[in-house]
Amino acid sequence: MADVEHLRSLLKAHPDFPKKGIVFLDIFPILRDPVAFESLITHFVYHLTSHTIPHSPSKKVDVVVALDARGFLLGPVIAMRLGAAFVPVRKKGKLPGECVTATYKKEYGSDSFEMQADAIQPGQNVVIIDDLIATGGSAKAAGQLVSQLGGKVIEYLFIIELLFLKGAQRLDAPVYSMVKTD
Ligand code: 5GP
Repeated sequence: MADVEHLRSLLKAHPDFPKKGIVFLDIFPILRDPVAFESLITHFVYHLTSHTIPHSPSKKVDVVVALDARGFLLGPVIAMRLGAAFVPVRKKGKLPGECVTATYKKEYGSDSFEMQADAIQPGQNVVIIDDLIATGGSAKAAGQLVSQLGGKVIEYLFIIELLFLKGAQRLDAPVYSMVKTD
């Protein structure tokens, strides 16, 4: 718990970024501090492997899926620690080979995510990770990609959850967020 308070203290709020009225929470100060980064990763790995703690998934994780772009800073490291596969979700048009596609709403218009069609085998247990959940639109689209390939999302993981936007309510699997904020 002391670790979580320390990690929370490193998050930096940037008012009016990327535009007026938005307070952007920056996770990069954690990654600049190797001890803090290590404790962040260990926190998630412990949550995913220690079946004695409340709400941790009871199933073995086969695949860690992470979202473009800041999810890529967390997903591969956690996957390697778990001995699981790492699979990226990218903006449309960036991945080679056959892909599945899901569209999600942004503030203005919509955008599409893709995943390589051979990245997940039917029945595999998948966790989806990103730095922050706001409206939940992007995480939901990632979940749809996993479902299209027959994978089972057992949990969504975030460093930060913006509670007032109620994004977790849009998702079809449990949500674990290290820091909850209004
Ligand atoms: P959502 O789809 O849940 O509305 O938005 C979540 C996405 O927006 C995530 O990929 C996240 O990286 C990005 N995002 C939105 N606001 C912030 C913020 O304040 N800080 C960070 N680090 N990412 C944000």
